[in-house]
Amino acid sequence: MLGFVSHSDCLEHDAGPCHPECRQRLEAIDNQLLMSGLDFVIRRYDAPKVSREALERVHDREYISRVYDMAPTDGSVEIDGDTVMSPGTLAAAERAAGAGVLAVDLIMKAEAGPVFCAVRPPGHHAEHDQAMGFCLFNNIAVAAAHAMDVHGVERVAIVDFDVHHGNGTEDIFMRDNRVLFCSSFQHPFYPFAGHDSETANLVDVPLSAGTDGAGFRTAISDHWLPALRKFRPQFLFISAGFDAHVLDDMSSLALSDADYAWITKELQAIAQEHCSGRIVSMLEGGYDLTALPRSVVAHLKELL
Ligand SMILES: [Zn+2]
Repeated sequence: MLGFVSHSDCLEHDAGPCHPECRQRLEAIDNQLLMSGLDFVIRRYDAPKVSREALERVHDREYISRVYDMAPTDGSVEIDGDTVMSPGTLAAAERAAGAGVLAVDLIMKAEAGPVFCAVRPPGHHAEHDQAMGFCLFNNIAVAAAHAMDVHGVERVAIVDFDVHHGNGTEDIFMRDNRVLFCSSFQHPFYPFAGHDSETANLVDVPLSAGTDGAGFRTAISDHWLPALRKFRPQFLFISAGFDAHVLDDMSSLALSDADYAWITKELQAIAQEHCSGRIVSMLEGGYDLTALPRSVVAHLKELL
């Protein structure tokens, strides 16, 4: 059974008019699940609010307090040019980070197979003590730390195929040898990180503008897949951003729905080989309201 974790609070985060990270992203995914028939085979769960303890595993205490203190009751608060808090943002962020914790628990209790978390705001740009790039709490990092610290998982791999480098995840885990972090990203491009990392537990795959599916598959096959097999993860986490799609205005890569199906199949095979198929996949970017839901469905069909 494919688990699907989300929450209506995640719709209530409003980053402002014309902001690409909008509630329609989750609504489009829901519609596509219905149209594809997948809605009848997934098992839905409501994301709980994340605990303070779970946040503190990856974020600085003062930073967390600052986020809670900044949350507006009306109007909006701009953290940076891209990252905005509205009255609904804090609850959405608490659900987004809590989703991965529930997903890990479901898998460790064998109550669900792979689990996808359809949440917003996204998380992979959020660093140990800094919000940025639409992200407040690093949802995938919270989930991975929960798996290690609460369930005793010794080795986790986090792979990130969002078009933007997962600088926040790298910042949190770059000195943690329990974690292998693989990121593919357009380069040079926001957040202008990753390409010069030299830590042994990081596998960065920078891709030049215009890279298509063939180039992407070659780079992943050459760099990520051997590193993942060598690492033998006991749990696989996916920062699933779909903004490298050819239709997505956010970037200049040219991936297709089929490329997302391909990489999911490759990751699924590794999870079957090494960790009994334990996969938590977390929505990150993806802003084209046609390509995003189609790509998510392609991803979920391979996870099934
Ligand atoms: Zn992105």
